[in-house]
Amino acid sequence: MAYQAEYIWIDGVEPTPTLRSKTKIIENDSKALPLWGFDGSSTNQATGEASDCILNPVFSCKDPIRGGKNVLVMCEVLIASTGKPHPTNMRAACALATKKYSAQKMIYGMEQEYTMMRLNGRPFGFPELSGEPSPQGPYYCGVGSGRVMGREIVEIHTEACLDAGLHISGTNAEVMPGQWEFQIGPVDALRVSDELHVARWLLHRIAEDYDIVISLDAKPQKGDWNGAGCHTNFSTKAMRSNYKAIEEACKALGARINEHVSNYGHDIESRLTGKHETAPYNKFTFGVSNRGASVRIPWQVARDKKGYAEDRRPNANMDPYVVTRLILETVCGKPKTANSKQKKSAKKKIKNKPTKTNK
Ligand code: ADP
Ligand code: MN
Ligand code: MN
Ligand code: MN
Repeated sequence: MAYQAEYIWIDGVEPTPTLRSKTKIIENDSKALPLWGFDGSSTNQATGEASDCILNPVFSCKDPIRGGKNVLVMCEVLIASTGKPHPTNMRAACALATKKYSAQKMIYGMEQEYTMMRLNGRPFGFPELSGEPSPQGPYYCGVGSGRVMGREIVEIHTEACLDAGLHISGTNAEVMPGQWEFQIGPVDALRVSDELHVARWLLHRIAEDYDIVISLDAKPQKGDWNGAGCHTNFSTKAMRSNYKAIEEACKALGARINEHVSNYGHDIESRLTGKHETAPYNKFTFGVSNRGASVRIPWQVARDKKGYAEDRRPNANMDPYVVTRLILETVCGKPKTANSKQKKSAKKKIKNKPTKTNK
């Protein structure tokens, strides 16, 4: 029997791209998922005269909504005339960096926060037409009517991620009512990013059935309400066994503040204000257990003297291909310090000595 493959890709909408998808019927006897195409002039990725863009499947999993043999297929977008990555294709650069720094074995756990909105644009946790709920406090990880909103969607989404075989590692209700989080990881840059996009697609798709819109806006509600982020936990092989490597990674991030925050999602200035459990976007700090720092070292990590660090700056609306690549380049590609260069040349001298006596 033929089955359905839902081809998912990232469009060219600005300032924050959105997900698109369409369904391909696959004949039973065909094994590999074929290249496909779409009309790029309808997604801000091409002009009408040269509208075709290519969909190249890069990751697939079971489709938990349709069930059976049906699959979800994450794709990257290629230019039809050249077969090269489209300018909106952020995965290609991430794949290159992953290859370049593969020896460091970087893995990531991403905490995707999001806000459920009504069709009229008001947060689902707010009264339907006007006014605000009581202030933040009881909602984070709460239980009971009036304290949490939208749990049914969260439960169905979590089951769907599990059925699809994604590395979902947890969920929780967030500080603003109707705001939630799920985590994917820890796995490598491409895997966590492919899976996060598929998990986002599933969330949007499931929420359709409830007339709920999933917002990844960094600051969906102005005022005294938390924004939505995507804390990115990361570790190299060295960090997983050595505390010094964790501190060095934090310092490397501190040396490239702007490269990171300017690529961590639209409207980051509205979210990283220094209030609501954030650090100001243009200042860099790191510290143990500090939720007001740019990068937090969890207390268990400080106790065990090994583990990972949490970059708290990425927005909910960031592109994981971009964020994981930047962390890879900054942490793994950091220039050697003068001190380590000296040590290296000293080693060389010693190494050269015995060769002289070696006849
Ligand atoms: P919190 O809300 O306290 O910041 P969470 O439990 O929501 O923490 O998220 C912690 C994340 O850290 C999870 O996604 C988990 O997969 C990830 N993580 C755990 N260990 C590592 C590690 N060694 N490297 C990278 N990420 C890790
Ligand atoms: Mn969390
Ligand atoms: Mn959170
Ligand atoms: Mn966190």
